[in-house]
Parts: sequence; C-alpha cells; structure tokens
Amino acid sequence: MQRLTVLGSTGSIGTSTLNVVARHPERFEVVALTGHSQIDLLFHQCVQFMPRFAVVLDEVAAARLRVMLSDAELATEVLCGIEALEQVSALPEVDTVMAAIVGAAGLRPTLAAARAGKKILLANKETLVTAGAVFMDAVHASGSVLLPIDSEHNAIFQSMPHNYSGDLQRSGISKILLTASGGPFRNTPLDALQNVTPEQACAHPNWSMGRKISVDSATMMNKGLEVIEAHWLFNAAAEDIQVVVHPQSVIHSLVQYVDGSVLAQLGNPDMRTPIAYGLSWPERMDAGVAPLDLFKVATLNFQAPDFERFPCLALAYQALREAGTAPAMLNAANEIAVAAFLERQIPFLYIPRVIESVLDVLPVYPVTSLDDVTAADAAARRVALEQIRLIT
Ligand code: NAD
Ligand code: MG
Repeated sequence: MQRLTVLGSTGSIGTSTLNVVARHPERFEVVALTGHSQIDLLFHQCVQFMPRFAVVLDEVAAARLRVMLSDAELATEVLCGIEALEQVSALPEVDTVMAAIVGAAGLRPTLAAARAGKKILLANKETLVTAGAVFMDAVHASGSVLLPIDSEHNAIFQSMPHNYSGDLQRSGISKILLTASGGPFRNTPLDALQNVTPEQACAHPNWSMGRKISVDSATMMNKGLEVIEAHWLFNAAAEDIQVVVHPQSVIHSLVQYVDGSVLAQLGNPDMRTPIAYGLSWPERMDAGVAPLDLFKVATLNFQAPDFERFPCLALAYQALREAGTAPAMLNAANEIAVAAFLERQIPFLYIPRVIESVLDVLPVYPVTSLDDVTAADAAARRVALEQIRLIT
C-alpha cells in the first residue's frame, strides 16, 4: 500500500492523479489533500478518498470546509497555511508526495518532501526552475526518489538508461530532444499576436491544463521552463537540450545517443500516463488512457522553434546560461506578467517585455540557500509590477 499526499489536488494534475488512484484502491491510500480555492471540489475529494488531512490556505476556507466535513460526519482534519502544506509533505506515514501546486507557491512544500526523503512525483516545474540547486541537494542528501511528471521529462526519463547517473556523456547520450506542441499560436503571425485574448491563449490544441501553464504554452515560456527543468533533472547543459516543435504532441520527447539511436516515448496526450508511471514505477499499471492509434495519427511533423515570435523561449535559455538567481527571476516575472495578461491589464506580447526588463534591471547572484531564491523572487515580482504599472 502506497500512502500519498497530493499537493494541489483540486487542480488539473491533482484531479488526474486522483482519477488514476481511484482505479487502484488496493494499491493506494490518500493521507492528505490540499487546495487553494475550489473548496467544494476539495470536500468531494475528501468524501471519496477519506484522507486524514485536508489543507487550505486561509482560515475562512478552513472554517467552511470544517463545517461541510462535520455535516458529512467525516473525520478528516482541516489544516491551514503554508506550514501545514510543509507538514503534510513530510508526515512519517506518507510514502509519496505528488507535487502539483502551480507556480513558485509549490516550492516550500515540495522542498519539505525532499528533505523528508519522500518519493516525489514532480509536476511543479517551478520548484526546479527557481531553486534547482537547493532542491536537488535536498533530494540527494535525503535519498528521495524523484520522478518527473511533466510529460516531456517523464518521456526523457523513460528513454534514458535505467542506471542513468547524471552524466550524459558517460551514458552515450548526445542530446535531449524536448518536444513542444507550439501552443495555440504556433502559426499565428507576429502582428496578430498583439491582440490575442486570454481565452484564445488558454485554448490549447492538445492538452487540457490549468490557466497559468496554458498561457505559458502559448508564449512557449512553458518550454523555456522545461529546458531549465531538464537541466536540473538530467544534469544537462543548455546546449545539450534541443527544443523540437511537434504539433501532434504524440512523441512526448526523445533522447539521442552517440551511435545514432534515438529513443522516444509516445502516447496520447493525457497526463494520466506520466502520473500512472510515477505512481507505479518501476512497474506499470492501467492509467485509463486510450491506446495510441498510429493509423489515426498518421502523420508526425517537426519544425525548429521560432525564437522571434516566441522570445520567452530565448529568455529562458538566457536565464539558464546566466544561472544563479536568473531563472528564479525569470519565473517570478513570468508569473506576474501572466497574471496581468489573464486580468487583461497587459497585451500578450508584453509578457516577454516585462520579463526581459526584469532580467535587464536586476543583478544575478549565486544561489547558496533558499533565502537567495526567495529574495530574487521578491525583487523580480516588485520590478515586474513596476513595469506593468508603467505600461498601464
Ligand atoms: P492548476 O491551476 O489546475 O492547479 C493548481 C493547484 O494548486 C490547485 O489545486 C490550486 O488550488 C493549488 N494552488 C494554486 N495556488 C496555490 C497557492 N498559492 N498555494 C497552494 N496551492 C495553490 O494547475 P495544473 O495545470 O494542475 O499545474 C500544476 C503544476 O503542474 C504546475 O506547476 C504546472 O506547470 C505543472 N504541469 C501541469 C501539466 C498539466 O497538464 N496541467 C503538465 C505538466 C506540468
Ligand atoms: Mg510539459
């Protein structure tokens, strides 16, 4: 029996995780669920999975959830706040933590899971982007098993040698080929991008996801964050990671070897596949995903990324090369700019402009502790908000 904490259980990854878990009641027990808003959904999840703890972020939501649970005569205890998120990530009775909070807010609880030596199913890529060095140190120090859930990194993980030790050259790997759908604006000309709406940006052609990551896919910042994520997960330099635009999202990424072999993982675009792989690793189990019908897919296309129409991708490579606090600042500025775009305060094409000005203005420092990351994150948010105020 594997005992789970699901951080961000009310989100897109969180609900897909519980969907997979519900297919295998004999294998999993849910110990803790957490959600920010959507208290009704969190309550229904408590009814279905009867966790020991449910965590929310504010006292008002906690009080409401407590009433609902007590009316339903459920024993789930409601906790509140960031410390509670850290607490349920490190509980002695928990084996595995699904890290599926969105944004830098996921960092502290995910780090708590690493420090407690949990098996971590990592969806929250922002943890690696902002605090990759600190997080990977914690993983290595505690002996945590870290399994990537982001579909591309899960595919890379599946296509790598089983004993991969963090040395691409020694494993005969010449390149990581990170596929990208290109998002909803893959073929949209630059001048038309000026007027796109949040609704258009969130309408992803292949994947159904939360709003923040959907906008990230539309700007291709998502792929930029994933390049940085791949850097930390596989100890790969920026030049070892090639982005390949592949509109069908059937090949989830590839690993190219020195002998000319290229290994890939394919499947329908459904996050339950990487989630089930993480949950059952090193075994396999049913994920409820339809088998891939290659005859229906028929064609697979590939093209090089367009750094001019998608400057966010270039900014992410730049931040990775600058290292230190640069990726944390890139991520924070992006979170602020995306939120402003979703609230219709800035046009789509201002997202990269805000990020670029933050990276231009602020100095880059080395990262030796979580405090370095938190300070850089706060400074970048402040400058990004100033830039947005100048525009609006
Ligand atoms: P989502 O917006 O659908 O869900 C986010 C979850 O986090 C919700 O449960 C929400 O209540 C919670 N949350 C939001 N803000 C919070 C805060 N400040 N503190 C605590 N909890 C908070 O997001 P998602 O699409 O499920 O993405 C989750 C993570 O997984 C992201 O890091 C994303 O990049 C990554 N990811 C998602 C997908 C996907 O298909 N959705 C694919 C790959 C990676
Ligand atoms: Mg991805």
